Amino acid sequence: QAALPVVGGKKAEEIMGITVSKAENFPAWYQEVVLKSEMVEYYQEISGFFVLRPLSMHIWSTIRKWFQQHIEEMGVEETSFPIFLSAKSLEKEKDHVEGFAPELAWVTKAGDKDLEVPVAIRPTSEAVMYPYYSKWIRSHRDLPLRLNQWNSVVRWEAKQTTPFLRTREFLWQEGHTAHLTEELAGEEALQILELYAGVYEQLLAVPVVRGRKTENEKFAGGYYTTTVEGYIPSNGRGIQGATSHCLGQNFSKMFDITVEDPANKGSHLHVWQNSWGLSTRVIGVMVMVHGDDKGLVLPPRIAKIQAIFIPIGINKNTTPEAKKKHEDTIEDIRATLKKAGVRTDADWREGYTIGWKFNDWELKGVPLRIEFGFKDAEKEVISFARRDTGEKGTIPISEVGTKVPELLETIQNDMYTKAEAAFREHRIQITKWEEVLPALDNKNVVLIPFCLDGKCEDRIKALTTREDNQPDVPENQKAPAMGMKSLCIPFEQPEGVVAGETECLNPECERKAQKWVMFGRSY
Ligand code: AMP
Repeated sequence: QAALPVVGGKKAEEIMGITVSKAENFPAWYQEVVLKSEMVEYYQEISGFFVLRPLSMHIWSTIRKWFQQHIEEMGVEETSFPIFLSAKSLEKEKDHVEGFAPELAWVTKAGDKDLEVPVAIRPTSEAVMYPYYSKWIRSHRDLPLRLNQWNSVVRWEAKQTTPFLRTREFLWQEGHTAHLTEELAGEEALQILELYAGVYEQLLAVPVVRGRKTENEKFAGGYYTTTVEGYIPSNGRGIQGATSHCLGQNFSKMFDITVEDPANKGSHLHVWQNSWGLSTRVIGVMVMVHGDDKGLVLPPRIAKIQAIFIPIGINKNTTPEAKKKHEDTIEDIRATLKKAGVRTDADWREGYTIGWKFNDWELKGVPLRIEFGFKDAEKEVISFARRDTGEKGTIPISEVGTKVPELLETIQNDMYTKAEAAFREHRIQITKWEEVLPALDNKNVVLIPFCLDGKCEDRIKALTTREDNQPDVPENQKAPAMGMKSLCIPFEQPEGVVAGETECLNPECERKAQKWVMFGRSY
């Protein structure tokens, strides 16, 4: 947890609004936004854990409902497996255990007695579930088997933790499916990836690039990993958005999951498996992309309150009758909006100035502020202010049922368009090695011709890491030391790389490039 700044003798946590600018100190800005908007609380007792408050859980449950509906349509069923994992089952798949062992949290005691065999908390559930897939899948008629569970997992991350993005416990869904053929598994992996892109693009108004992970970056024990990759404009870093893995037959061989070959009676086939997961990380990416110096900016589709009414002009001189009439009008308008599917609230709190209320709702990211005073009532309009652009206007009361939902959709689309333009402008194609570091320092991610070799990828990371740590440069002007890693091999490949002809961009590499690969500094 970074120390928050001290402003005018007061600690930042005591001041209501955001005290640091997003452009000047992005990590401190992010921390203040998620705390002060009441999205999260740090769990003081154990580092790396966070409390998710109702504002974030509303977003998560919106995502959950949307995704659940889509996977149900695909025939995926819900399940719930135990939280614990035996070392024996984890060890079945060699790469898988190597990938996860360093982050396992173990339970070694029950009361004051040592457990005979310690158990680990699941970091993911392949090794918990697949012994039962072996038991349940008997015939090709049992395929496809598609199960999903919504739960939390624990990965005792050694890297610095950040609310939502990297936490030691996180909420997610994990889908685990089995298919007869590679083709069927592959099709499903992509269908799910498209749903993950939908969560980002359609709900959170965050653009992503769809692609495949390189061998170095794929899931431990998997066959190949597909991914949606996001981009944080403020620091130019990439972030893995969500992953849909084709596990191939690696796990089915280790866990003995077979069916009789329908085309060849008497012989057995190992099933083809997928696993796919989307975590609460998505919320952090959304905050980082859209938030501003006043706080959160929420896309309307996931905002708990889409429009907040601030009654104006009521003071101690207002007669009870006038006050009552004003309240009734506001409640009538809210009822109309509710019918139109708009989630609203009204801020009737006494003892707070209008300005304080404006700041408070801006901090919490409510997409639309609706001011309603006696002048508005006379003119039979409401006055609004957009959270994303600050733009103001009026809407006749008689038209709120159509105009407000339209305006919310406009806000949603404008937020996506703005973020999409920022990502597009900062995803640049590079064909000269000398241009890589300056591009990274200018907050870009880069598309480079790459040979796809794992060692070359490690070397690229080393070559782009600043080891001298720039001794002559003042601390606050230093470019980041972090090297770049591969983010994905985008499915959408620009022209210009001819496999086996174009050179790999790494100046030390003698192989030919296979693909354009997106690299960047990343989370
Ligand atoms: P994985 O099983 O490693 O592919 O992870 C599934 C998804 O969970 C990834 O796509 C990440 O977006 C997300 N994720 C991985 N580790 C964390 C973490 N420590 N905190 C939050 N989200 C995570």
